[in-house]
Amino acid sequence: MFCWLSRLNRGLATPTGRIPRLIWGRFSRSLVLSSQRRTPEFSSFVARTNTCGELRSSHLGQEVTLCGWIQYRRQNIFLVLRDFHGLVQVVIPQDESAASVKKILCEAPVESVVKVSGTVISRPPGQENPKMPTGEIEIKVKTAELLNSCKKLPFEIKDFVKKTEALRLQYRYLDLRSFQMQHNLRLRSQMVMKMREYLCNLHGFVDVETPTLFKRTPGGAKEFVIPSREPGKFYSLPQSPQQFKQLLMVGGIDRYFQVARCYRDEGSRPDRQPEFTQIDIEMSFVDQTGIQRLTEGLLQYSWPDDKGPLGVPFPSMTFAEALASYGTDKPDTRFGMKIVDISDVFRNTEVGFLRDALSKPQGAVKAIRVPGGAKYLKRKDIEPIRKFAADHFNQEVLPVFLKANRHWNSPVANFIMEEQGLGLTRLMEIQEEDVVLLTAGEHRRACSLLGKLRLECADLLEARGVVLRDPAVFSFLWVVDFPLFLPKEENPGELESAHHPFTAPHPSDVHLLYTEPEKARSQHYDLVLNGSEVGGGSIRIHEARLQHHVLEAVLKEDVKLLSHLLQALDYGAPPHGGIALGLDRLICLVTGAPSIRDVIAFPKSFRGHDLMSDAPDFIPPEELKPYHIQVSWPTDSAAEKKSLNHPHCPES
Ligand code: ASP
Repeated sequence: MFCWLSRLNRGLATPTGRIPRLIWGRFSRSLVLSSQRRTPEFSSFVARTNTCGELRSSHLGQEVTLCGWIQYRRQNIFLVLRDFHGLVQVVIPQDESAASVKKILCEAPVESVVKVSGTVISRPPGQENPKMPTGEIEIKVKTAELLNSCKKLPFEIKDFVKKTEALRLQYRYLDLRSFQMQHNLRLRSQMVMKMREYLCNLHGFVDVETPTLFKRTPGGAKEFVIPSREPGKFYSLPQSPQQFKQLLMVGGIDRYFQVARCYRDEGSRPDRQPEFTQIDIEMSFVDQTGIQRLTEGLLQYSWPDDKGPLGVPFPSMTFAEALASYGTDKPDTRFGMKIVDISDVFRNTEVGFLRDALSKPQGAVKAIRVPGGAKYLKRKDIEPIRKFAADHFNQEVLPVFLKANRHWNSPVANFIMEEQGLGLTRLMEIQEEDVVLLTAGEHRRACSLLGKLRLECADLLEARGVVLRDPAVFSFLWVVDFPLFLPKEENPGELESAHHPFTAPHPSDVHLLYTEPEKARSQHYDLVLNGSEVGGGSIRIHEARLQHHVLEAVLKEDVKLLSHLLQALDYGAPPHGGIALGLDRLICLVTGAPSIRDVIAFPKSFRGHDLMSDAPDFIPPEELKPYHIQVSWPTDSAAEKKSLNHPHCPES
């Protein structure tokens, strides 16, 4: 991915640069709407006749008008003009009669925007550039107009020129000119268009917009609040249209979808945004399978042609299995290295910490096998792994190396009896030069630790050239049968929803809600792609009584805050369920972008700031008055307040 982009951009830097035909082909192919199999009219209603990137030998002799940015000028003879579609070479006229045209084209700084009119001609023999899609032709200019001049830029508009992300975000409008950002945003637009087509045209969904000014509701992520003119009253920005989509079902809009903006005030988290987009879906009279098949069809239909076909149905795994085999509810199933329970091998062990763990309830001995680990992993790799386990999980991890001479090499090698060694080899299918990482402890804890180490080892092996997670492979997975509730992190004596409070219990576990709610499974499903959660949803509780019980008796929430929903469920609410796909993350994985910020036109920084406009910003006290709000300044921000007028300093 990155290598092709940097090659592409090196190509953009000079008119003689090499731009592999394959890449250009892919780029222009992606501009074709696959559902209609035709290229859109890129030049309708505007001043140009063609785009810079579309001209070929078939256009020879045509009079064209092009608008674009000056990418490059060579010896005042050639100029390369760029638009979103590509580059074209323009010949600057040298004869006296065209002196004014020459002056415009030679004096305009790089990145100025110009309009040129002229004839498409062949490049002189030997001067063609076979690596450039427009490399057989050039434009013999007759007229030129400077539409707007460009000042000295904070960075060059060339993808290969390195710039910090803070600078890119500060000048986002310039960053958007890069081919990478153009590609990401256009691909996003096409996928969304195809999703709309699939849902509305093929399956009769209704696109409904729901409010962004709402009220604070219990459960789920923290919401942003918006002041109102009524003293002490606040709106809240919805973390998702969850309640509205359920209310639409009560209202008989029985197949709803929305490209929905959601807001979560979760503080700084890598690769999260305070505002983000979901493809939000809800259907009446549907079960889990119905939602899953719809989602698979939606992704298959909107999937970019050049990413290969998607096989459906996607495989499915229970939450318990995901945790036991991968140590996480979002397993990256592109590679193995699964967690194996080896408790039985060590029932009679003399190794203290293994024996201790096995004597406790839920205690187990678990391990992962790192293929070729003895070859690729060094001692210095193992120490940080053991330290991580000790610091974050309070767990011991033991490496067991199986050398080419089939000798065990481990701090506990002397304590591994022969039959234990054989049992371990058989159970884990250990080969020469493998490493086994072994831990012991409470099942969940041991699995989570090994899940993290599995990814860590994959990073280490890949850094040494082993390909484990092919970026061209898209491994979707449904994770199902989640528990309905989990112990609260800050107070494990209380329960919170694993998904959200509207999730229905598994039909065979309803009775547990009244006896042992912590044991109830839910009808919640997550969609995982290459180890990232890209969607989640559930079948909902549609009976007011059950919903009331969950909110009040199990979750100890204030039901008054949700009285509107409880009331609605009592007025003939149909059974219903839905899902939301995280559009930003999905597009990020499809494009192979390093961060979700690279698939959002105007993202916030890591700390939730808009570095271009400097939002959030201060508001003078008199403007806060109508909202009955006064700022109580923390002492350490008094200095910050004083520096209100200081020039903006970008975050890194
Ligand atoms: N509203 C849920 C979420 O944002 C998705 C759903 O249950 O449909 O995670």
